[in-house]
Amino acid sequence: MEGEYWNAEMELLSREEIEALQLRRLRDTLERCERSPFYREWFAAAGFDPSRLRSMSDLRRLPCMDKTTLRGDDPRRFLTVPLDEVVRVHSSSGTTGQATVIFHTAADIEAWAQLVARCMYMTGVRRRDVFQNMMGYGLFTGGLGFHYAAERIGAMVIPAGSGNSKRQIQLMRDFHTTVVHIIPSYALYLLEVFAELGLDPRADTDLRIAFIGAEPHSEGLRKRVEEGYGVRAYNSYGLSEMCGPGVAFECPAQQGMHVWEDSFYLEVLDPETLEPVEAGEEGELVFTSLNREAMPLLRYRTRDLAFVYPGECACGRAHRRISRIKGRSDDMFIVKGVNIFPMQVEKVLLGVLGVGSNYQIVLDTVRSMDEMRVLVEVAGELWRGEVKELNELKRRITDELRQEILVTPRVELVEPGSLPAGEGKAVRVLDRREHAKGVGDG
Ligand code: AMP
Ligand code: ZN
Repeated sequence: MEGEYWNAEMELLSREEIEALQLRRLRDTLERCERSPFYREWFAAAGFDPSRLRSMSDLRRLPCMDKTTLRGDDPRRFLTVPLDEVVRVHSSSGTTGQATVIFHTAADIEAWAQLVARCMYMTGVRRRDVFQNMMGYGLFTGGLGFHYAAERIGAMVIPAGSGNSKRQIQLMRDFHTTVVHIIPSYALYLLEVFAELGLDPRADTDLRIAFIGAEPHSEGLRKRVEEGYGVRAYNSYGLSEMCGPGVAFECPAQQGMHVWEDSFYLEVLDPETLEPVEAGEEGELVFTSLNREAMPLLRYRTRDLAFVYPGECACGRAHRRISRIKGRSDDMFIVKGVNIFPMQVEKVLLGVLGVGSNYQIVLDTVRSMDEMRVLVEVAGELWRGEVKELNELKRRITDELRQEILVTPRVELVEPGSLPAGEGKAVRVLDRREHAKGVGDG
């Protein structure tokens, strides 16, 4: 018989049990780390003696690591196992800069598959489901991470990969796909392709669940996916440095993403002072892996900004929940001295009726001044409608953006489908300003 939980033992741990398990697993991880040349030096430089760890907070005596730390050394020096125990390598999808390399043993791959299976099962995926994985396969973890998990559950997997929209729709119809994993910006784009083909995903497919993640997106975007496809859409968070997807995931309550704290120790820190912030307060997510073999990472700074929900989840799981990711501290941009996150713009746009499925923020230097333009695709019906209505739409968007971000951008309405829609993570900001040249790091 099918139970309610994929891994009841881990999912139903109490707070006390989670904390006790974390301490045990952290000790094992630190012991393991001492086999790695990198960590031996890292510990020595910090004067850190792993055998003296008494509580999780003692970990704070170690400095945080980030992508620079990973890039600064030969990745093999992080290994805690001989290279011949490594069965897979993945890397992060950073758009600029050198990709970071992450090694996995067979046990790492299995633990990861089990974690993602736990996530999928939690939202209701079962053996009878047909799962179409529309994420890039390859070095990017989004593809294979879900692939093996769905197979563990026993669902039928369609390893569709990304792109080729018409074929995706064909596959969905031919195989009666019930569950998809899709980049959120691409999910909106695909809705237009359905419309072009004269199809309505609500009536013409068997879809019931969508996993959306890998890039920041707003609640408004989730709503559009849920309404457009007639599905429940669940937010999926992860990063290749911790394994990939499966780090945090929404449960049916859809009130934040449970971080699987049996596998990851989460700190939320003020990005400036690196001091912990309170539950409910926004900070940078910093993770320590607790059961990874090949390449454990300690206090890894994600640059992702979110807060922990105070209180308990309606689903009964005690694993803490993080909010939707507001953005990365490194995708914040400053216009006329004001800090702005692309997600603030998206939140406004997707709340306005008549806005289509894509947008882009373009920053330029005009006569030594910052100029911010927001290009917005208009919904099809409106684009073919009256100029008066388009002007009204433009005015509303401008007003609402000004209230949210405190500067007045130039809003330009553009034809549906005219902005670049990639197959991978969306590029929301095009910063062409003089001072922006050469900076930015993936
Ligand atoms: P990668 O290691 O290439 O898979 O990229 C991981 C990064 O993607 C994370 O650090 C986040 O910045 C972003 N990301 C992944 N999942 C989500 C999500 N559900 N919401 C927002 N950003 C996400
Ligand atoms: Zn829950």
